[in-house]
Amino acid sequence: MRTAPTILHLDMDAFFASVEQASKPSLRGKAVVVGGLGPRGVVATASYEARVFGVHSAMPMGQARRLVPNAAYLVPRFTFYRSISERVMELLRALSPLVEPLSLDEAFVDLEAGGVAWDERSARLAGVKLRADIRAVTGLTGSVGLAASKMLAKIASEEAKPDGLVVIEPGSERAMLGPLSVRILPGVGPATGDHLRRAGITTVEEIVEAGEDELVRLLGKAHGHGLYAMALARDDRPVVAERETKSVSVEDTYDVDIHDRTRVGLEVQRLAERCVRRLRGAGLSGRTIVLKVRRYDFSTLTRSETLRGPTDDPAVIREAAGRLLDSVDTTGGVRLLGVGVSGLADYTQEDLFAQAAGERAVAEGPVEEHTAAPAEEQPASLAERRWPAGHDVRHAEFGHGWVQGSGLGRVTVRFETPSSEPGRVRTFRVDDPDLEAADPLPLVLGGPEGGGGVPGAGSQAVSSVPASLPKSWSGSGGGAATSRP
Ligand SMILES: [Mg+2]
Repeated sequence: MRTAPTILHLDMDAFFASVEQASKPSLRGKAVVVGGLGPRGVVATASYEARVFGVHSAMPMGQARRLVPNAAYLVPRFTFYRSISERVMELLRALSPLVEPLSLDEAFVDLEAGGVAWDERSARLAGVKLRADIRAVTGLTGSVGLAASKMLAKIASEEAKPDGLVVIEPGSERAMLGPLSVRILPGVGPATGDHLRRAGITTVEEIVEAGEDELVRLLGKAHGHGLYAMALARDDRPVVAERETKSVSVEDTYDVDIHDRTRVGLEVQRLAERCVRRLRGAGLSGRTIVLKVRRYDFSTLTRSETLRGPTDDPAVIREAAGRLLDSVDTTGGVRLLGVGVSGLADYTQEDLFAQAAGERAVAEGPVEEHTAAPAEEQPASLAERRWPAGHDVRHAEFGHGWVQGSGLGRVTVRFETPSSEPGRVRTFRVDDPDLEAADPLPLVLGGPEGGGGVPGAGSQAVSSVPASLPKSWSGSGGGAATSRP
């Protein structure tokens, strides 16, 4: 492991919700929940104001509505989020060739490989500068963690949230990790956490005290070894710029053929969970679930199912593997089982939850007005589906605004822009010829991320700010974006 905190982890703060608050002045300082608004929608991101009430990512939307009925409930604007994400990633790539994105708003950067940091002081300066550049270019805040390993850098950025920077100095890792919950370690989800708790292990220090043999006994060889090493703050995983893995799979061969169908089912569930751990450990998600079954006569079958979007959700992968098993005859006995995931993607978790949920919301409608009580059952017309809550519109007379809600043949629009005062609300018929869908406006004046929303503005900043940012940072970098009129 390196001796300087030169691995940086960036995590934008409540990314989707922050973008919405920056876009919509009337929502600043308010509870905002972005996600699927359909009957099975889940929360993608909640603003910090909504988190106070217990709303969090992946929570069913109905539950969020009960907790904070007056929050603004918005359908994600993915194209816009991606364009902002790309601006942030460009800033990271200006620091180092080794940038490893984990999702739209999260990435590791090897500062040493980029020659921009070699000790604590230079690493801290790079982190401070990066946060300022992100703010200048996007108008948003991101938290930075710096440490000598990926695991610790990610923990540091978590500690830094929101809008902060934390450095874990090499040498202090063990003392810092010791009192923290085991859940802080990568690969420890609720199930593993419970398992460890039943064995009397709740903190990282208690993992160390239990010893490696006990961990292996509790969690199996691979996971036990891995977790013990993490608890000792040993993590040598490199920052990798490219994803080369095409699939992630696990399999077991049995000494004695398994005949009992229930047992076969349980083994498949167990393999699915192991596969998810490996998938998550690599920061990946995947679309295609593969089941492999070798029978008593050595005939080998594979069955696969492709989902609508990539997932790393253990429940989804377990269920898919279970469905695949239903189509396989195992009566003669089984000598090998395997579960794999392919069709891998670099990003996971909240953006995907939202993506799936957002698509469903559009497909299933109706989009409810965000201040309304849970919708009465109304068939959604095509016109109503055209106006997802939170999306941009332009009115011939009133200008740029966003859909606050729609239903019953009407659409409510709030007319405001990122740089305006909080705006007024007006209601139109959904087929008003003066109202049309619009591109998002840039969050920063002269900023480039508006997807063409402001003609002429920002095109210069796109090419000049981060792409030419010298490694030595002798230029003013992204700061130029805010000094424009
Ligand atoms: Mg984030």
